[in-house]
Amino acid sequence: MLIPIHKEMTREALADKVSPRALEVIIAANIKQDSLRGQVGHDEFHFDNNALDESNQYIREQRGFVLASLLSPGVLSAWIAFGRLTHTAQDFYSHTNYVALWLDQFNGAPPAPPEIDPVQKSIVESPGLYSGKLYFPLDYLYFVPLLGKALLPFLPTDSHGKMNLDSPKQGTMFEYARAAAIKRTQVEFETLEKILTPAMFTKFVDL
Ligand SMILES: [Zn+2]
Repeated sequence: MLIPIHKEMTREALADKVSPRALEVIIAANIKQDSLRGQVGHDEFHFDNNALDESNQYIREQRGFVLASLLSPGVLSAWIAFGRLTHTAQDFYSHTNYVALWLDQFNGAPPAPPEIDPVQKSIVESPGLYSGKLYFPLDYLYFVPLLGKALLPFLPTDSHGKMNLDSPKQGTMFEYARAAAIKRTQVEFETLEKILTPAMFTKFVDL
């Protein structure tokens, strides 16, 4: 998703759950994943190129970092690890066909976007789940303003360019991806609440 959208979604999901300073650190770490260094050679940060297992593994690793960091005195690195994790979790909905598979269940009459289940097991584990591939060089040129639209017809259907739900320009499916990403961010927060001791959780939320 686009950086302003990651910011907005993370704020919406966590604003009343963590302190303002924690939220700012989480957001900064989330959007840093989209810097050039975080884009090149890091499919696992963004669920790109079918790196589904790697991305899920990355989320688990960062969750582990949150826990490990909270065992030592500081809290900053726990917030940063959680920020990184939320980025990947959010990109799951804009870079895979999860939303398409979820909508497929309703024969053309789906519930409204806020009703989407972000962790429907049968879809998360579906062999039909895949993510957009970055075709070189077309998919990279797709990111160049104006050029993108002209190139789109030449991109394969499983390309990042054709599949992504990164911004409202992608139409109604984007609203489902956005709603799912916000809910998933909250699911990730609730997971922390389950795995951390009450003292660690209090330190993390910083309220
Ligand atoms: Zn990303």
